[in-house]
Amino acid sequence: MNILNFGSLNIDKVYTVDHIVEKGETILTNTYDVFMGGKGLNQSIALQRAGLQVVHAGLIGHDGQLLVDFLKENAVDCDLIQEVDDVCGHAIIQINPQGQNAILVHGGSNQRIDEKYIDWVLSQNHGCEWMIVQNETSNLDYLLKAAKQKGLRIIMNPSPITDSLLKCTLENVDLFIINEIEGKALSGQSEAKSIIQALSLKFPHAIIVLTLGEEGSLLKADSEIVTQKAFYVCAVDTTAAGDTFSGYFLASYLQGHSASESLKMASAASAISVTQKGASNSIPTLDAVKVWIKAQNV
Ligand code: ADP
Repeated sequence: MNILNFGSLNIDKVYTVDHIVEKGETILTNTYDVFMGGKGLNQSIALQRAGLQVVHAGLIGHDGQLLVDFLKENAVDCDLIQEVDDVCGHAIIQINPQGQNAILVHGGSNQRIDEKYIDWVLSQNHGCEWMIVQNETSNLDYLLKAAKQKGLRIIMNPSPITDSLLKCTLENVDLFIINEIEGKALSGQSEAKSIIQALSLKFPHAIIVLTLGEEGSLLKADSEIVTQKAFYVCAVDTTAAGDTFSGYFLASYLQGHSASESLKMASAASAISVTQKGASNSIPTLDAVKVWIKAQNV
């Protein structure tokens, strides 16, 4: 089954430093690493590893070939990705010896997505019934409306929450995957069950999946609420936990498995991911998740 991921592609530049740079100061860094990132890219990797065929749409700058190579190595279809005259979206991440960070994000090519590119992508024969979006790319509201008109079913991971996102026509969304912070911002509620109730009143036709970190996750579809505990693991880095969860939940659910089976797969995959450092590299393969679930005896 194919899924269209209209999402961000980012280069994460990570520097270890003795201390986070202060106002007016220039410092030397200790180490430098480059990672492929962006919620869009991470979710493409997770969806593909979980068993869907992903068609990724997005823009890179002239420094972005490494992102396309990485997606292709992971079997993601990159035919719709185009290069624009800009730099790629990128993050400059300082990490101090205590593990604290300070991050600058430059939208670059992710913010160059315009109506013309959106129309072109949607006119292509991508073979997808479902499209997933996050909020790291430009012209999201136009994309939601145009995709709906084309009959696509829309999944949204509303991250990060911004003023422009809150003004989008979110009624076009068929399935939300949100974490607690996003849920609070979208619903004005603070407790998990109230968040999900408020969101299902606001978006009565949408399926809502709410993730709660180590507290687990819940789903509301029609009048059914399904809950799933997180697996107990020794977490070392929760980066990309939500992206791993989204990929594994969707691959299972869209292929016809039940809500509870799909939440279990997603919880297992994301639990494995938090036991490893990094983002896309910590997203497990489907075989690894199946073996892990068997070993847990659940
Ligand atoms: P996000 O990364 O978007 O903030 P969450 O923190 O809610 O999302 O995490 C998504 C899912 O990952 C959770 O619902 C849970 O299943 C799993 N997860 C996150 N943190 C842990 C943890 N410390 N231990 C086990 N599973 C976790």
